[in-house]
Amino acid sequence: MRRLVFGACMALGVLTAWADFELTGSTPLPVIVIPAAAAASTELAAQELSAYIAKASGVTLSTAREPSTAPRQIVLGTVATLPESPAAIRERLTKAADDAFFIQISDERLLIVGKDGVAELYGVYYFLQHYLGVRWLAPATADDDGEHVPKQSKISLPAGELFRQPHFAVRRLDQVGSAWNAIPKHGVTWAVRNGYQIATPYSIPVSNPALTEFYTPRLPPYLTSSAGGHTTFSAAVPAKEYFDEHPEYFTFLDGKRVLFDGGHKGVYQYCISNPEVQKLVVEKICQQIAEHGVEKATYCFGMTDTSVGWCECDACRALDPPGPYHYLNISTRFHKVVQAMSAQVYARYPKARLSTWAYHTYRENPDGVQHDPRIRVYYCIHGRCYGHRLDDPSCRRNRQQLELLNKWRERSSDVYLYEYSTCTPTLYVPNERVQAQEIRLYRDWGLTGTKFEALYADSHFVGAKNPSRKDIFPSNWQWLYVTGQLLWDPDLDVDAMLSEIEGLYYGAAGPAMSKYHGLRRRLWENTPHCMGYPTGDQRRPNLLNQPGSREELLRYLAEAETLAAGDAKVMARLARDRRYLEDYWIAPNDEMRAKASQTLMAPTTSEKVTIDGDGSDKAWVGAFYTSDFRESFTPEKAVIPERLQTTVGMLSDAENLYFLVTAMEPNPAGIVTKATEKDGTVWSDDAIECFLYPPSADNSYYQIVVNPRGVVFDAINPGADASFDSGVEAKARILPDRYVIEMRVPAARLAPFRRGEIWRVHFARNRRQEDAAKNFSLDAVAYHDTSSYRSLAIGSPYLANGSFDDLDENGKPVKWTVSKAEVRGEGPNKALEIAAYGHAYQLLTDRDLWQSPQPRPIVVTFRASGQGKLNLSVLRYTDTPDAKAKHGYQRAVHPTLRLASFDLAEEPALFTASYMIPAGEWAGIMFSTDKKAILDDVAVTLE
Ligand SMILES: [Zn+2]
Ligand SMILES: [Zn+2]
Repeated sequence: MRRLVFGACMALGVLTAWADFELTGSTPLPVIVIPAAAAASTELAAQELSAYIAKASGVTLSTAREPSTAPRQIVLGTVATLPESPAAIRERLTKAADDAFFIQISDERLLIVGKDGVAELYGVYYFLQHYLGVRWLAPATADDDGEHVPKQSKISLPAGELFRQPHFAVRRLDQVGSAWNAIPKHGVTWAVRNGYQIATPYSIPVSNPALTEFYTPRLPPYLTSSAGGHTTFSAAVPAKEYFDEHPEYFTFLDGKRVLFDGGHKGVYQYCISNPEVQKLVVEKICQQIAEHGVEKATYCFGMTDTSVGWCECDACRALDPPGPYHYLNISTRFHKVVQAMSAQVYARYPKARLSTWAYHTYRENPDGVQHDPRIRVYYCIHGRCYGHRLDDPSCRRNRQQLELLNKWRERSSDVYLYEYSTCTPTLYVPNERVQAQEIRLYRDWGLTGTKFEALYADSHFVGAKNPSRKDIFPSNWQWLYVTGQLLWDPDLDVDAMLSEIEGLYYGAAGPAMSKYHGLRRRLWENTPHCMGYPTGDQRRPNLLNQPGSREELLRYLAEAETLAAGDAKVMARLARDRRYLEDYWIAPNDEMRAKASQTLMAPTTSEKVTIDGDGSDKAWVGAFYTSDFRESFTPEKAVIPERLQTTVGMLSDAENLYFLVTAMEPNPAGIVTKATEKDGTVWSDDAIECFLYPPSADNSYYQIVVNPRGVVFDAINPGADASFDSGVEAKARILPDRYVIEMRVPAARLAPFRRGEIWRVHFARNRRQEDAAKNFSLDAVAYHDTSSYRSLAIGSPYLANGSFDDLDENGKPVKWTVSKAEVRGEGPNKALEIAAYGHAYQLLTDRDLWQSPQPRPIVVTFRASGQGKLNLSVLRYTDTPDAKAKHGYQRAVHPTLRLASFDLAEEPALFTASYMIPAGEWAGIMFSTDKKAILDDVAVTLE
């Protein structure tokens, strides 16, 4: 029996002389020893350590306070509470990042020491993961602990040392959207165990000891008192106290000082240039620092949550950049004020932990403001797309976000991101691998870290707006798990981590579930659509477009259920996956398909498509598919039988259209392919026919026929002139149950080919087998009936519903404002018929056509027939910011411009007109007629 002598361990080198530490299985058992004045986090660390050693081994270790005479000890504490711990360790930790810890194992002692409070708790959690193999996979629920604790009767630890510090200083998982007084215990506990920092309730109410008791041991000291944000001005200058006596502290609008609602309760717009107002804020911050100490008080400068009501007094306006006042750029004014206030705080507390929001209307790069290098910038990346990686050049939204972020990075060396991932329905999103790549980018860019919002499933959610909110956290457990680990060490192998945790989580069903999640990730990573606040989610409904993908997922799930039969816990986990798949992948896809118009699409791909007839390129995951084939020559026009199902996938890039045809064939031996030469009689073989009808003045259209040996016939029509060469590249394969044809059509050689164009296309399948099933085509439309071809939108259109195929429940064409105009016709034959003195109007709202300082040249193309004249006019607007207007701007309407007037005939003709949208204007296009016009295929392209 002796008191532990810390001096015995001299250096930090390799401790080969020491033997293993027997954690359990030898007597006397070690005792967990914590300092007499242990921090709350150390007490929690001791409890957690003891509990998990007991779960793993069945042995319960006792805990004692210093001084202890136990011969074998597990010592937990911090640099401050373990002054006798080896000086070298304390020195290294003092210099290390926040949350760093040191683990030292010798034959008589296990030492876990943290830099400061909570670091030793992270140390214990890491110890349990690293040495005992414990994994906190998914947050616990009432009937599932979500964890993995390997059972081992005798735990022996190898002597040695381990130092660890997080790569990122900011690793936050902040509770949002729920009541603060109901603690999401399972979620928060899980977050800390996996290395995250948790949110600080802005002020833990003293009257609620349950909150203090739960949060205090888990909150790092530097997060125990944080303030600011939206209440920066209102907390320091409360309206109740100041408005009557000092109205000049408040916003000046329309010639008077007013209380203007700032978007949150008790929060108003202030005259932030007023030095007295700034002084009150500075006093408030210094008061907080004096109360909690400079290490424990963090303060974040922020402002109201509204875009209007900014003070218009001369002093405030003098802070704005030169030029007309713009409510959307209050950034310069705000950041100049932050600069002034932070300088005053630093003068008194040089080590103050200050940060500032770059958020909302004050996120733009401020003119001529250089923040103190000590101030941390908290960049809210709202508006980014979670469908694409942040540096993906094919995502316009992320290109803009990255540009803004890069400007902040030039301005400050301490920037972290506030992710808006929960304002997006990130439900059942397998984003793990993309997130891992992004975390490595964050490291390369020198970011300080990232903060995610957490809708912890066991929160008490405020309001009942969206019942699926409680599924966001648990349905993304793998994403959250790997993120927590990667924020400590961005180099961890994410695929190895996923294979480990999914193997543990699904037990016997692991092999099937690894295929299941592997396919989900492939679909997720290769779908081209965007998702993210504020424009919602176009990506999830499109995840199951690729034929067979949903069936494959369901097959893996069924396989998993067979493998896990009898294991109630795993079966319950599989049931959750099945529900998530049904609710968040299958249902949105069905809904999208049900609503989809007759318009076909050729989404733009940035991936390479290799024409080899196997359709395995990643790009095909993001393609648009149709399989609406019917008998074309029979009176019944029956739907193609299941055994012959035929699917066409479509894609485009800047110059080409790509098609992938999969034709099921139960008797491949009977396939007829007599044609062996280009432009031979391919149409009399088993073959796929493809018709392309670009908007062309001479009404010519192209026919391409390919047989299952890849032999091509192509011709220009009318006239079937086979001397024409489309340049198509086609490859085909015959498989045991189908044949596949992949082709690339250099469409730009056939007609102007740009994003926003609407072409017409048609597909047919010729079958030459002995049985009755012979000829099929899309919608049963005859091969050369160009008037009934489907519309094909190249890329995403600049003008919506130019084909008039999409109707609302009243039969009106969506996106159009019409008067005395009706959509006539069925299916792809639909067109808009405008009666005398009627019109059809659409404002051009594609982002590239928004009001901007640059003029934008556009071309309007359409087909029309009828009597009398068809007039094309442009309606013009300018929006000017106005803080007092309802939407924050005033709209000025300019005189309407008559762009062109066309004479109509009974035969449809193609018309075009060019227009330059002037700088600083919006444009809307309007069609009107004096007699009768039938309008179709309206397209707008940007030159
Ligand atoms: Zn003012
Ligand atoms: Zn995107």
